[in-house]
Amino acid sequence: PRGDQAPSDPAAWLRRQRDHLRLRDAAAETEAFLARLLARDPSVRASASEALSDPFVSESLQAQLAALEEKVGSAVVCSTCGDETLRESEAARCPSGDHVFCPECFTHSVEVQVKDQTAAAKEMVIHCSYCGTKTPFPDETIARHAPTAFGDYLRGRETALAAKLDQEKTAEYKVKLQQELEKLQSMSDLERRVTVARAHIETNILVTRCPHCGKAFDEWSACFAVTCSRDGNGPDIGCGTRFCGWCLTKCTAEDHHRHVSNCRHNLAGRGELFSDIKLFHESNKRRWRQALQDYFVQLGDPAVVAQLRQNPAYSDYQ
Ligand SMILES: [Zn+2]
Ligand SMILES: [Zn+2]
Ligand SMILES: [Zn+2]
Ligand SMILES: [Zn+2]
Ligand SMILES: [Zn+2]
Repeated sequence: PRGDQAPSDPAAWLRRQRDHLRLRDAAAETEAFLARLLARDPSVRASASEALSDPFVSESLQAQLAALEEKVGSAVVCSTCGDETLRESEAARCPSGDHVFCPECFTHSVEVQVKDQTAAAKEMVIHCSYCGTKTPFPDETIARHAPTAFGDYLRGRETALAAKLDQEKTAEYKVKLQQELEKLQSMSDLERRVTVARAHIETNILVTRCPHCGKAFDEWSACFAVTCSRDGNGPDIGCGTRFCGWCLTKCTAEDHHRHVSNCRHNLAGRGELFSDIKLFHESNKRRWRQALQDYFVQLGDPAVVAQLRQNPAYSDYQ
């Protein structure tokens, strides 16, 4: 039988065997990947960007997916105006997680609520217009997604606190309210502007985020060809985008490791893929320093910038 014959060209035979094994593995992986792409369970389902970077997805399908991803990606739809070009990273998501707002609609909603509540002087809390009054938006969300309304919101809270203090009978609670009110009242207009700028810096500049969905990362180490992790669930779930751990540029599966090893921001040295936490922090420092200086210029408020420059929290980034 032919199968028992010694191969006439052992090198070619070996090559054929290897190709055969490679094809078989590829088929198995493609099947597994397709199963994930079509999964009903969203926590298991592969994202468009993962599909894009899968080496077994054909080029034409990749092109189609790329177009789709441009459209969909981590896109979300504004619950109010229906804007479909909105990105998760620029949307304000309500505390229940069910509703998202584009910057315009969110700012408008904050402005209206601040105006109504300032007139009523009873309280100052911003709620999701769809969820009702259960959990208010945290200050951080308001500062980040409605920065132009944040100052009025703080002022409104001050007025509301003063009114509440007037009616409060419990002595202990009265002291607490009094302290909070004094803190707000002692704020000058300049201090308010500084507070708004600081909220922006702390949520948008001194945080390392996925370049696609905006998910924040504390750290990564080992291989700096990083993927926005899809582990876990809830609002923390990542988008699966591949990016460079040094410069945060998006990468495809094909160029991911090549980019990282050649990246001009690679502090571990040219050709290196791996690094440690120390260099991760150092590279953040350099990136944040640049971003902070850009923000100071963009802010165009010399009095605020002078205060921020003196803030010891930012001394590493000057
Ligand atoms: Zn909208
Ligand atoms: Zn909601
Ligand atoms: Zn790697
Ligand atoms: Zn992401
Ligand atoms: Zn890079």
